[in-house]
Amino acid sequence: MTNCRHCQSILKHTFLDLGHAPPSNAYLSQKDLNSPEVHLPLKIKVCDRCWLVQTEDHTSFDKIFTEDYAYFSSTSSSYLLHAKDYSNKMIKELNLDKDSYVIEIASNDGYLLKNFIEKKIPCLGIEPTKSTADVAEKYNIPVMKEFFGERVGKQLASEGKQADLIIANNVYAHVPDINDFTKGLKAALKINGTLSLEFPHLLNLIEDTQFDTIYHEHFSYLSLNTVDHIFASFGLRVWDVEEISTHGGSLRVYGCHQNDKRKTKKNVNDLLKKETIKGIHKLETYMSFKDKVNKIKDDLLLFLIEQKRQSDNIIAYGAAAKGNTFLNYAGVKNDLIDFVVDKSPYKQGKFLPASHIPIVSEEKISEIKPKYVLILPWNIKEEVIEQLSYIRKWNGKFVVAIPNLRTI
Ligand SMILES: [Zn+2]
Repeated sequence: MTNCRHCQSILKHTFLDLGHAPPSNAYLSQKDLNSPEVHLPLKIKVCDRCWLVQTEDHTSFDKIFTEDYAYFSSTSSSYLLHAKDYSNKMIKELNLDKDSYVIEIASNDGYLLKNFIEKKIPCLGIEPTKSTADVAEKYNIPVMKEFFGERVGKQLASEGKQADLIIANNVYAHVPDINDFTKGLKAALKINGTLSLEFPHLLNLIEDTQFDTIYHEHFSYLSLNTVDHIFASFGLRVWDVEEISTHGGSLRVYGCHQNDKRKTKKNVNDLLKKETIKGIHKLETYMSFKDKVNKIKDDLLLFLIEQKRQSDNIIAYGAAAKGNTFLNYAGVKNDLIDFVVDKSPYKQGKFLPASHIPIVSEEKISEIKPKYVLILPWNIKEEVIEQLSYIRKWNGKFVVAIPNLRTI
């Protein structure tokens, strides 16, 4: 029995048990294929007191996911544009200028903060991964190479470095100790400062059966209700929220100190209510999820086997965490999927963890002319379909398995 990462209640209910799986980003080289592979339990629990959906707390595992992993945000052009628009919006709405201070947690290679630096707004990045932090420093962004939490928050406060704006995009759901992180936010925020957090929305995960967004490094699966509750526990308040399209539907939450003069906007209360109506506080919402997941898994397996018997080639696109969760749970190996294509030169020539499906560059598609391309990152399917539209020349089709199997 483990305890809830937020309220310490005993976690009695399993939301989903995906068996054992390797860390999702543990891509293997040819040489690694001869060695044993680390597999860890991937079980998601739901707390029936505070409703935080979370991975089981195996403290010894947490260390595994903090190793130096170089993912450079700047490699995606649409991401860069999104970052620029967002920065301009924040600068305008919060009237940020040379006397303001902006902190970004998990600042990566500085793709976001460089927009503030260009406008001469003082800022600080907090990023433990040295390789990406080094790139940010080249843009003259000061970087503190640490994991953020209460200790760092208090240190910043004692040095007079509290922020007018703290940005934490796609990090809140990925921290093992969400309480310590939230205390850090409270400590590092100026008296009338603003918090801006983005994370995938649990409601979308449940409604669209996005079970492949579950992996070890993704510790918490958050609803607005849960975040609102965690904020309140540490003297913070959600005063505004936006529903955005990233990662199959995310929330951007704006927070402030509990006693801030800003009133909580109506859309916050509306979304809190909507989540409750959709059953976010009912155990049966969580308990019925498994059956939907198994239907998707079975449908994909049946499809793959059927095509294989007809000698049709199937390849996959996108060697990302999502695909690994799905393929490993379904037990798919390279007898059913020949290879997976990925843009990243870092991944090409390697193999997916556990399934050992080879990762290759896009040229291979024209060479093999597969009948089907299974798109694993369904959240960018439009982009992929456009990019690979040439498969239509040989009557190739696209396949998406979530929220239900369909060919396009
Ligand atoms: Zn709890």
